[in-house]
Amino acid sequence: MPQATRFVSPPSPEAQPFWEGCKRHELLVPRCLGCGAFRFFPRPMCPRCLVTQLEWVKASGKGSLYSYVISHSPSPGSDEPPTVIAVVELEEGMRLMALLRGVTADLGVLTIGMALEVVFEDADSEVTLLAFRPASAR
Ligand SMILES: [Zn+2]
Repeated sequence: MPQATRFVSPPSPEAQPFWEGCKRHELLVPRCLGCGAFRFFPRPMCPRCLVTQLEWVKASGKGSLYSYVISHSPSPGSDEPPTVIAVVELEEGMRLMALLRGVTADLGVLTIGMALEVVFEDADSEVTLLAFRPASAR
């Protein structure tokens, strides 16, 4: 079977520091210098106070499972295991979507609110993606 071509869109200017942090295996989130609120997803202006200045701070990388969906391969007869796509609520309060590693796509294993921690996966020399795993999986 031919390998699928992977397309990587360039990050927006607002999200560039986030992806650079991922390359260093750091989870960086923008915080508004006007009101102190986290501004995630990254965007040019704070939706609360309209200030454009921000700083990037390192998040703990800890969070909890807010929601998820189990994705099965669309290829008939595929032996590829299903993946879990999670919405993770970080300790800092914002939510982001990522793959959930270290679990089977089993409804008995996945519990809303379960403790998670970030892991970084170097897809290649240019791109590092983040995922999460159960916090006790060290
Ligand atoms: Zn603000």
